[in-house]
Amino acid sequence: MADLPPLREVIARHGLFATKALGQNFLFDAQLLDRIAAVPGDLQGKAVLEVGPGPGGLTRALLKAGARVTAIEMDKRCLPALAELGEAFPGRLQVIDGDALKLDHCEVMGGEPFAVLSNLPYNVGTALFVRWLSGESWPPQWTSLTLMFQQEVAQRIVAAPDSSAYGRLAVLAQWRSAATMAMKVHRSAFTPPPKVMSAIVHVTPATMPDGVSARVLERLTEAAFGQRRKMLRQSLKGVSGAVEALARLGIDDTRRAETVSVDEFVALARDLTRAD
Ligand code: SAM
Repeated sequence: MADLPPLREVIARHGLFATKALGQNFLFDAQLLDRIAAVPGDLQGKAVLEVGPGPGGLTRALLKAGARVTAIEMDKRCLPALAELGEAFPGRLQVIDGDALKLDHCEVMGGEPFAVLSNLPYNVGTALFVRWLSGESWPPQWTSLTLMFQQEVAQRIVAAPDSSAYGRLAVLAQWRSAATMAMKVHRSAFTPPPKVMSAIVHVTPATMPDGVSARVLERLTEAAFGQRRKMLRQSLKGVSGAVEALARLGIDDTRRAETVSVDEFVALARDLTRAD
């Protein structure tokens, strides 16, 4: 590996000032970036998908950890800087000039299993997260997701029932995956610093409960949390058969959505999947 110039120098040389419209808040602290790259475990020889490499801070850390990186970046200004980085790690960095929301990630990764690591652009982060977690086919081709979010969103992903953060994102992330808060990242670590604190969430796929359709579960949580202050017998009225399923499963229909555990949502979805 050749000696790499400091990131700030790369940014100055290529004129990569951060653009708000692209959700750009860059990380420069090499130690912090190494810690993020270590969250999924040993990456030696592994395929990694990175969304939004920007000037390549996290990309460097991933390459140093021995990963083979495919990076999708839609800001063309970053491409020459990333090409330079690729030259320092021959054959280990493929950069795709495009919008990650419009690409088929499994196709991009050529059908092999891959870990996802990303300091996600906040504006597209949740959309990509929902997409990675909502496929009907399980286990997915990705082996883990290690993603930066606003801390408030990270808390919603790992939330337990009976908390105000618990909702659709928590059920989506936890019904067939394990989701943990891997580390908090202070806003001052970014250039420019965003208004809010950030956190890294780590998700690994778990076994999918038998007989449950992701689509049915999604319909249930959408209705239940869409009117989270209402009793289930009211909020689930629009989901055909759901109120009857509550009775069959012995779930009190005067409860509110945020008291219903992930397992109870899964049991309800299983009951309705049979009838679907
Ligand atoms: N990974 C870098 C770091 O940690 O310093 C940059 C992080 S910055 C928060 C987000 C990056 O994602 C930017 O470089 C931005 O151009 C890129 N980006 C934004 N939307 C994107 C999209 N839809 N597809 C691919 N890249 C995107």
